[in-house]
Amino acid sequence: MPDARDWTREDTARFLRVPTADDDKYSRGVVGLRTGSSAYPGAAVLGVEAAWRAGAGFVRYIGEGRAADAVIARRPETVVSAHASGARVGAWVIGSGTDAAHRSAAATAELRELLGGSVPVVVDAGALDLAPDSTAPLLLTPHGREFARLQEQLGSEVPDERAEAAAVVAAELDAVVLLKGAQTVIADPEGHVLRVGAGTSWLATAGTGDVLGGVLGAMLAANPDAPIAEVAAAGAWLHGHAGRIAAGIGEVGGAHGHPIVALDVAEALPRA
Ligand code: AMP
Ligand code: MG
Repeated sequence: MPDARDWTREDTARFLRVPTADDDKYSRGVVGLRTGSSAYPGAAVLGVEAAWRAGAGFVRYIGEGRAADAVIARRPETVVSAHASGARVGAWVIGSGTDAAHRSAAATAELRELLGGSVPVVVDAGALDLAPDSTAPLLLTPHGREFARLQEQLGSEVPDERAEAAAVVAAELDAVVLLKGAQTVIADPEGHVLRVGAGTSWLATAGTGDVLGGVLGAMLAANPDAPIAEVAAAGAWLHGHAGRIAAGIGEVGGAHGHPIVALDVAEALPRA
């Protein structure tokens, strides 16, 4: 059993930065997202919105077509370009709303270039299959089914228990693995596990994982010197707490909460 601990509100607070007089938009964290596609433009919008709302000072979006148009319509603050320009980017987010089957060879080559760099990359959904053989510091964010595919790809013996399984995959891929679910577990390659229980089952709705990607990008860009697993746990906690706020849990009559959509979670981030 890996060494595991429960992540708290107080732990999270250590990673939430309030800007000072010395800060400018770059020092607060520059996030680059290469997410979404013409099939899933919404994933791009959700990630970009979440990165801004989690406190990024500057957000770059790399993409074309419907996704790029949707991003600029929703958040004109975003600098949108067709090809990866890495200027000052402190963390990348890739893969949400993309699938390998519909990715062009050129797009795959661009993702591989990011994965072969030295800037941390949040790797979600359709980019998870590219994680092996990367050199960049990686934060993988699979949900249960994506995690099962990763295990299959590795072809090795992986235990059933989620924390142990995440630790095995983290060691194999030399990456931090954030395995999403009602309880999110985060494992680093050394076998340390953090458990994040903040959240609500109302988060079981389309697009909330794309919001998490944007949050993690913003948190990594704002905390460049901190251990990735701890920054990831802080991001997951913040995302879960934003979900609870969005669902009205804790308000008068809010014992059960109410339905939410993913954009509600992004919009609740500043209050979280
Ligand atoms: P994805 O499947 O990529 O859209 O990600 C879903 C997000 O919602 C993750 O952050 C999960 O941890 C969260 N989530 C999904 N189902 C539940 C649940 N039943 N209870 C709490 N959080 C959940
Ligand atoms: Mg997802």
